[in-house]
Amino acid sequence: MDRIYLDNAATTRLSRRALAAMLPYMEGEQGNPSSLHSYAREARKALERARGQVARCIGAQEGEIVFTSCGSEGNNCLLWGAIEANRARGSHVITSAVEHPSVLNTLYSLEKLGSIRLTVLPVDGYGRVSVVDVFAALRSDTVLLSVMLANNEVGTLQPVSSIGNLCRERGILFHVDAVQGAGHVPVDVQALHVDLLTVSAHKFHGPRGVGAVYIRKGAAVSPFITGGEQEKHRRAGTENVAGIQGMAEALLEQNEDMDEEQARLKALSEKLIDGTLTAVPDCQLTGHRTERLPGIVSFLFDGVSPDELLALLDMQGVAASAGSACTAGSNEPSHVLRAMGLLDGRRCAPLRLSMGRYTTAEEIDRVLDLLPRTVARLRG
Ligand code: PLP
Repeated sequence: MDRIYLDNAATTRLSRRALAAMLPYMEGEQGNPSSLHSYAREARKALERARGQVARCIGAQEGEIVFTSCGSEGNNCLLWGAIEANRARGSHVITSAVEHPSVLNTLYSLEKLGSIRLTVLPVDGYGRVSVVDVFAALRSDTVLLSVMLANNEVGTLQPVSSIGNLCRERGILFHVDAVQGAGHVPVDVQALHVDLLTVSAHKFHGPRGVGAVYIRKGAAVSPFITGGEQEKHRRAGTENVAGIQGMAEALLEQNEDMDEEQARLKALSEKLIDGTLTAVPDCQLTGHRTERLPGIVSFLFDGVSPDELLALLDMQGVAASAGSACTAGSNEPSHVLRAMGLLDGRRCAPLRLSMGRYTTAEEIDRVLDLLPRTVARLRG
């Protein structure tokens, strides 16, 4: 049985181009970029080349990129570093109720410690933050606002550019978690008026265990991992040279054919949405119908157990998810669907089907054939 991988929002297959860019640094090029010999110089050169490539892909300058080990590290460090560096200016922070746990839990911890006062913005039934709510929440001591580019459970895109504009006018630092969006929709830190931004390679067909953050030149952010002098003293630790090559190549590859890939994935999403809503009764599309990532489709099926749905799909070779990989295995209902007002007292199963550059039309046809029968069987 050929398996079908529809969990690209959790992690993606490494692209061949990314692998080819990594191999020389896994096989022979062993230099530590901080050493003082020719091996090190070659590693340093590769590191800086990749830094420039990542920067160009998001409209940044080379000196504004810091490499990290993942999106969670990027989010933790940027939030903590920005709050720490701006303590004298104020301690009020704004975020939204549908952020990834690496943002929400970091901010809740800082609030518990008394380091910040936190406003968590509500979202509408599609998972969108309202710019009017953002405006109303701003205070004279607001120093930081953090809103994601695209939601990882339902794929909804946030009005990031308008929020960024508001923050820029008021001199408030604006952080965007672009982990799900980067490489899938255009990201230009200038157009979005962003000061701080997080990406993670394994969400766009790069390797796992490597990410990057953008810190706008002049933005006050304290060093987040102390130790050696790597990454201009911001993030100590020997760089993952091979992983960074893979990330830079994967991001470039995604950017090069973004228009085509977006159109292809959008067509597959439309087919999946229309086919499922037509064939399955008591089923609801979650997230915004148009303002969404091209590759994430999510539904709620009434009267079905989430675990049983995923298990039965898996038995038929379909790898899908109930939402966030990070909350998989936990019995907690999704904080995202709850914030969207979709779970109140309902017995229902969320299902996220997330596609990537290796997803084919034939696979979507097969899913459309077996999903209605699977749901019907579970409803007995
Ligand atoms: N932010 C969002 C929106 C995500 O979807 C994820 C992972 O699913 C993360 C952050 C964390 O990224 P990583 O898995 O690289 O730590």
